[in-house]
This record gives sequence, structure tokens and C-alpha cells, in this order.
Amino acid sequence: MGKLGGFLQIERHGVPQRDPLERAHDFHEFLLQRPVAELREQGARCMDCGVPFCHNGCPLGNLIPDWNDLVYRDRFADAIAQLHATNNFPEFTGRLCPAPCEAACVLEIREGDAVTIKQIENAIINRAWEEGWVKPQPPRPDRETAQAVAVVGSGPAGMAAAQQLRRAGHRVTLFERDEAIGGLVRFGVPDFKIEKRVVQRRVEQMLAEGVEMRCGVDVGRDIGADELLSGFDAVVLATGSRVPRDLAVPGRELDGVHFAMDYLYQRNRWVARTLEGTGELGPAPAGAQPRIEREITAAGKDVVVIGGGDTGADCVGNALREQARSVVQLELLSEPPPQRPDELTPWPLWPLKYRLSYAMEEARKLGVGEQDYSVTTTAFADDGSGALAGLRVAQALPEPPFAPVPGSERELPAQLVLLAMGFLGPEQELLDQLGVARDQRGNIKAHAPYTTSVDGVFAAGDARRGQSLIVWAINEGRQCARMVDRYLAAQRGGERPGALAAEDEAIAGHADADAGPEGPPQHVGPGIGAPEA
Ligand SMILES: Cc1cc2nc3c(=O)[nH]c(=O)nc-3n(C[C@H](O)[C@H](O)[C@H](O)COP(=O)(O)OP(=O)(O)OC[C@H]3O[C@@H](n4cnc5c(N)ncnc54)[C@H](O)[C@@H]3O)c2cc1C
Ligand code: SF4
Repeated sequence: MGKLGGFLQIERHGVPQRDPLERAHDFHEFLLQRPVAELREQGARCMDCGVPFCHNGCPLGNLIPDWNDLVYRDRFADAIAQLHATNNFPEFTGRLCPAPCEAACVLEIREGDAVTIKQIENAIINRAWEEGWVKPQPPRPDRETAQAVAVVGSGPAGMAAAQQLRRAGHRVTLFERDEAIGGLVRFGVPDFKIEKRVVQRRVEQMLAEGVEMRCGVDVGRDIGADELLSGFDAVVLATGSRVPRDLAVPGRELDGVHFAMDYLYQRNRWVARTLEGTGELGPAPAGAQPRIEREITAAGKDVVVIGGGDTGADCVGNALREQARSVVQLELLSEPPPQRPDELTPWPLWPLKYRLSYAMEEARKLGVGEQDYSVTTTAFADDGSGALAGLRVAQALPEPPFAPVPGSERELPAQLVLLAMGFLGPEQELLDQLGVARDQRGNIKAHAPYTTSVDGVFAAGDARRGQSLIVWAINEGRQCARMVDRYLAAQRGGERPGALAAEDEAIAGHADADAGPEGPPQHVGPGIGAPEA
């Protein structure tokens, strides 16, 4: 455990951030890191409780008290070994995870007092990269199976599945239709939350381990489902949940109303074109970018983002960096309470309470933006030439279907509206071609853990569970890889090439963990999976 009684003597100090007034003018990450001495103090606060609820809170089942203690003892090299045992990409979660583990930390019974777990996780992996401790881990030559697996989709779920399967000795081809690997972590989440060099160095590691990567290949169009099934011993579908929820109100067709993801893809590609490869923000992806059909820009405009979630916040953050004239973020639901509502979401559940987003903090400090709750949009207004001039909005009733309150209508000026109201499910074309069964929401249905209705086809990540979180995607990729590995072993008649060493089992992710559909115990996760409006 950490320091005996440490939590009584040392106060929580959260993740330091760059000044919003400064960071809103560039694309560098805004999270900072504490010096090692301070991090060790924060690790010392961990009590190593008899029942560590943080394990349950973390979808990956990260061994949190173990590495908190190792950081306290300044044993960072041991800490990264512990962390990598359950998490392929701690630098993704250390930067981007909403940290349900902290909501479940026993110290959080006194609200706001949890061990600052996510900060410690990020510091461990940052140090490991700096020290050169993160190395490719290709399978031993005598463990090569010569069985071929296609992983379709290179978001965190596909990346984790591909890495696990390659380390288990299979030939893995990772297909991606975009020009670079990473899924939403590359093309959705902005550089100021995670610089893309952080994604790219994992890509390099996976290449060195022997994963074949084929970017610019839209599976289902460039390669047919038949070819996929006949050319590989197993297929993993990790295509994400990409169909956006639309807003069917008059004026939706006006020039200036766009889906959030169209805007975010363009902004991330703009950063890759202009800042990456210049030395300012790491290497640019090698693949050519697609031609832009219609440029979406917030520069100098009044921008309204419809949807109060994380996608909406990332739109606000980008619009500010483009120097929008004003930015308003609208949320259909009413404003959550400032404190954990114990009657609704008691500890150790994820508390449904108000959180000021990084982007809204920036907007307020710059004096150009505000977030508004309980607002429904009834129409978009035309400027007379087919372009957007504004929105008609009204106060929304607090219960579904959130109807407008009569007499509360008002106008908002806007030349750009971004729809960030969540996602309906995965694109269906490839799933139709393969003939895999779907659940009621259109997600890929797993009739056994991560196993679809088509023999040899497996599914992981948002495509299976609906739009969720990176930490869940990594977990699904790992668990799915374990199911695929078992399937391939059965195809070979059950024998494994080479002798099995215990550490290899752990690396490959098939140590004797449970085989339940969700891997580690379920936890009520935070709301990215929930509809955003
Ligand atoms: C704007 C935004 C911000 C977010 N921020 C956070 C955050 O801060 N923290 C957090 O935890 N979560 C966040 N999320 C959610 C998180 O990014 C996702 O839950 C996670 O990326 C899902 O991973 P995945 O691998 O299942 O799918 P994705 O990341 O969506 O990757 C799927 C990949 O499959 C590819 N693909 C699809 N179809 C095909 C095909 N036919 N052929 C080839 N390739 C194909 C796609 O191009 C894509 O690269 C955010 C989501 C969005 C939209
Ligand atoms: S992955 Fe997320 S939930 Fe798990 S320990 Fe890290 S911050 Fe906590």
C-alpha cells in the first residue's frame, strides 16, 4: 500500500492544466504533469483498501493500488509492467479517460477526495516512453501459428485486438479506411487532448511487432466480404458506432448545418496537414488525405453546437481555436446538480453531476461562449440565399419528449451549427454483406462473448456495445482477442505451438481471467454512451 495514513496527511492535488487563455490559441495538449516528488506523494494517498472498488470502477480492471504503491516507492519500471498487464494503451486512457475508477475510489466517499489515479497512470506511461522501457513485443518464433486474422477498423478496439493477437503468434492484418490508424482517437479527439505523435508511436510499436496495416481500404467496398472470409481464418469487426443522430426540423438542409464529426475530421486533418510534420506537432501520417468536398470553418462566425456531451465540447474547443466570434453549446436535458446526488447515483457509481468542460472553461475565460441547458431547437432560419442565419429555440420541458414550453421561443444568431447529438449505431453495409445478426439498436449482436452469428467472425468496441469510451474499447479489443485465440486454437486441434511461459500468457491476455461477455465486472460508465441530447 501507499504511505500508512498518507490519505490523512496529504491532500489531493489533481491534474494541472495550462492556462485556458493561453492554450485556446494553440493545439498542444493542455494537461500538464506534476514533478515526480509530487506524484509519489499522490500515490502515497492510496490506502490499498481491503476491497479496492477502483478495480471495479475501471473497465480494464487496472491493478490500481499496486501501481499507486510502486509510484510511491519510485519504482516506475515495475509500475509500467503492472499497468501494461491490463492496458495496451495507458497513454490514451491516462489522457482521455473520464476516470470512473476515481468515482469508485474509497476516498471519494468524501466527495472530491479520490486518489488522483488517472494522473498517476499517465505519468507512469509517459516516463516509460521517455526512458525507452516501451519496446516491441513480437511473439517468439516458435509460437508463430501461421493463422491469419483480419481486424477491420483501427480505433482503440481494433488496435488492442490486433496487438494482442499478434503477440499471441497470429498473422494480423489491420484494415482501416482512413489514411491513418487510430479511429476516433486520431480523427475525432483533437490534438489539444491527445497529440497524434502519441498515437503514432504505438502504431510504430505494432508495426515492429509484425502487425500488417492497410490504410485507405474500405472493407465491404475495396475488399468484399467473401474475400475477407475466404482469405482469413478469423475476422474481428471493430468498425465503431459512426451513424450520427440527426435533427429533423425545418431548415435542416441549409448551408451551414453540419454533423459534428464532419467538422472534427476536417479540423484534425487540418492540424495533420499544417502542424504535424513541421516539427510543431509530431510526424504527419504517410497516407494522402481525401479531397475536401466542402470546407467547414468556424472562423469569425457565430457558432452553435447542439449537444452537451464530449463531442460537442471538442467542437467548441476547435471553434475557439479558429477564433469564432461566439460559441453557444445547447443541451436538451436540464442542468445536473453541482454535487453527487446520493439518492440517484450514490458512491461508488458514476455521479451524474455538473462538470464544467475544458472547452466551456476556455470559452468563458475568453468571454465568447456559454452553455445553455433545457433548450430544444425548433427550426433553422434562412438568410434568404439558402445559407444559415440562425436558430429558433425554446425552453424544453424536463421529461421526454422534451417538448417546447409555449411562449418561450427565441432566436439565436448562427452561421454555423454543429450537430453533436450522439450516434445511432454502426454503419450497416459491411454487416449486411457478412450477414452478422444485429441487436435491437443495430449493434453487432454477440451470441457468445464477442462472437457473432457468423462462424469465425468476432466483434469488439463501439460496433458491438454502442458509442462508449476508449477504456471500454481497449477492454473489448483485449477480451475479443482472447476469444479469437481460443477459436483459432480449436481450429488447429487445440495444440499450441511452442512451450507456454506464464508471462507469455499474461502478455497475450489469456491468463485465467473470466470469460464473461464484458470481461472485468460491469460498471455504470459515464455518459458518452448515452444520447447527448
Ligand atoms: C469527438 C469524440 C470525442 C471523444 N472523446 C472521448 C474521450 O475524451 N474519452 C473517451 O474515453 N472516449 C471518447 N470518445 C469515445 C471514443 O472515442 C470511442 O468510444 C472509441 O474510439 C471507440 O473505439 P472503437 O475502436 O470501437 O471505434 P472507432 O474509434 O470509431 O474506430 C472505428 C474505426 O473503424 C474504421 N472503419 C469503419 N468501417 C470500416 C470499413 N468498412 N473498412 C475499414 N475501416 C472501417 C473507421 O474508419 C475507424 O477508424 C469520443 C468520441 C468522439 C466522437
Ligand atoms: S483506464 Fe480509466 S478507469 Fe481505468 S484506471 Fe485509468 S483512468 Fe481509471
